[in-house]
Amino acid sequence: MVEKCLQAEILLELVFSISFEKEEELILKKTMPLYLRKLNCFLAGVLKKDNEGLCELMTIPIVASQSDEWASVLAYFCSLDIDPGQECPKYVLNDHYYYSFCLHGYGMLILGRNKAFDHFFVKELQNTVNYLGRVLIQANEIKRRELAEDKLRESEFRLSLLMQESPRIMEVYDRNGCQVIVNKAYEKFWGVEAAETINQFNVLESEDVREMGMKEYILRAYQGETIIVPEYLFRLKSQFNGIDRNCDKWLSSSIYPLHNKKGEVEYIVVTHEDITERKEAEKALMIAKERAEESDRLKSAFLANMSHEIRTPMNGILGFTNLLKRPMLGASEQQEYIELIEKSGARMLAVINDLIDISKIESGQMEITISPININALIHDVYSFFKSNADEKNLQFSLSKLLPLEEIQSNTDKEKLLAILMNLVNNAIKYTSKGYVEIQVEKKEDCFVFCVKDSGIGIHPKRQKAIFDRFIQADIGNQRAFEGTGLGLSISKAYVEMLGGKIWLESELGKGSIFYFSLPCNVKADDTNDYKLTPLTDRSTFENEKLNVLIVDDDKVSRNLMATQIKQICKDIIFAKNGIEALNLFNANPHLDLILMDMKMPLLDGYDTTREIRKTNQDVIIIAQTALGLIGDREKSIEVGCNDYIAKPILKDELLFLINRCFNRYKIGSK
Ligand code: ADP
Repeated sequence: MVEKCLQAEILLELVFSISFEKEEELILKKTMPLYLRKLNCFLAGVLKKDNEGLCELMTIPIVASQSDEWASVLAYFCSLDIDPGQECPKYVLNDHYYYSFCLHGYGMLILGRNKAFDHFFVKELQNTVNYLGRVLIQANEIKRRELAEDKLRESEFRLSLLMQESPRIMEVYDRNGCQVIVNKAYEKFWGVEAAETINQFNVLESEDVREMGMKEYILRAYQGETIIVPEYLFRLKSQFNGIDRNCDKWLSSSIYPLHNKKGEVEYIVVTHEDITERKEAEKALMIAKERAEESDRLKSAFLANMSHEIRTPMNGILGFTNLLKRPMLGASEQQEYIELIEKSGARMLAVINDLIDISKIESGQMEITISPININALIHDVYSFFKSNADEKNLQFSLSKLLPLEEIQSNTDKEKLLAILMNLVNNAIKYTSKGYVEIQVEKKEDCFVFCVKDSGIGIHPKRQKAIFDRFIQADIGNQRAFEGTGLGLSISKAYVEMLGGKIWLESELGKGSIFYFSLPCNVKADDTNDYKLTPLTDRSTFENEKLNVLIVDDDKVSRNLMATQIKQICKDIIFAKNGIEALNLFNANPHLDLILMDMKMPLLDGYDTTREIRKTNQDVIIIAQTALGLIGDREKSIEVGCNDYIAKPILKDELLFLINRCFNRYKIGSK
């Protein structure tokens, strides 16, 4: 009876405990006091078995127990190997009675009492303890199951999170090809909501999938194969839910089957990575690489060409100079050699000028000066300049169309227009061996259209687009056949564009070419006071007033050349090899009128020398002369106190004109 009632109460208590908290320790804590009270026990403990033997889980003292006594009780029971079916051994210590019961499959329950249980009750108690053990096990199982369920839920949640948040586009299809799961990346990629496609889109029925050749892979995945498609262009042209989806995407995909327990393919998973950006970057990189290689190739070819272009005239200059030294050379031969040297020098200067021009253009330092010009007159000049070249080649050379009188005046940069026309006509004559070369100009709406026609070798259609690129001649097979840097057309194009126009061509291989360029008509002239280097006609300026000149240059040839060029206007010429010598000579010769100052010299350069001179003398005319010919040289020279500037190679007329200009300007103004 006691036992029945005890079991019922314990059960109730346990049910209550289990439903709220499944921690075994708590269960014991809650039920044990009740149990002990019913049994008049003063102490209870549970020894739980673990891998290393028994260990104490908890003790519940009802009556304070001697810890020494409890320790020896534990020691006693721990030493026993208790079989669950066995009757419990009893341990008596200090008039206390200790019993141990096997909590079925769980551990050992030890009870302490002041009075011994009679044998009959111990047996009943054993049943109750077994019952308590089973309940604990059950509680444990429930707890474990719930924990396992929690873990499963957690892992499912993680898996779904993994799939949903994956940057790879993921789609799952059932065995009929019907879409059952998609992730966020899929929604983003196709611009749809999952709900719009799930259960509606069928991968086996899709036209796009079939057209892309992907259906075959899908079918193979349904056969159990795993397919990896590293990269392919997916061209989507269909409508999806009424929306046009025209897009080209580069994808990298994998398709794999999911099997059920029977080993049948239940689902297939399709995942894609959108590699469009990567492919585009690869493409851009490829183009950049090809460009770099091309530019490298062009640069090397350009250098080779340039070397040729410089060595050829050098060869002419040095070769014929050497021949000139031969004694007993006839006058006509001498004249011929000199002309050839002059021609070679001019050719070399043209190469250097091209290089300087292109570097000015590239660094954005090429300036334009707009002034009123007579277009017909300018074209006539070009015609006259090239007439003899055309005649030499027996070409028909003509000005077939010019502007009517009322339209000949226009504002533009004369030097640039001249350079463009000179280059086009020069090319036309150079690349034409028979037939004609024609120059035309006409006014069309608000621009002038110039054209230079020839019946020459023509240009292959493939090369026409690149013809205005720098160094392009270097890239052609016939490069050695014609002299030239391959810079002319790119300089012309830059000039035309600087002047607000366009340049283009029509050409047929073997038949000839027409180069056109347009320039706007209504351009306003600058107010700049641009000097024109017209040939010096009035040389009377120096007739009565011969000059005392100091030529400063570290190069002997240059010193001699300048001395010879200005001899006619000089009373006396003295020379200095560097700035220090120049300062000494300047101080020793107070009557100097003119100093031709090289700017780049050893010891003291022309800039510092000029600065020194200007500290004490503002009157003496100093003309900077330099071989650099670079942007900013003129400004730099003027800034330190030079009156004017001339770039080497120096031509006699040009130098005399400059000197004349300086003396007119400064002598009249200051004296
Ligand atoms: P280059 O100094 O080599 O003539 P350009 O830039 O003026 O350099 O011309 C570039 C290339 O264009 C030339 O080398 C030549 O192959 C081609 N070209 C230019 N003009 C003509 C033309 N009138 N007929 C045929 N080919 C031409």
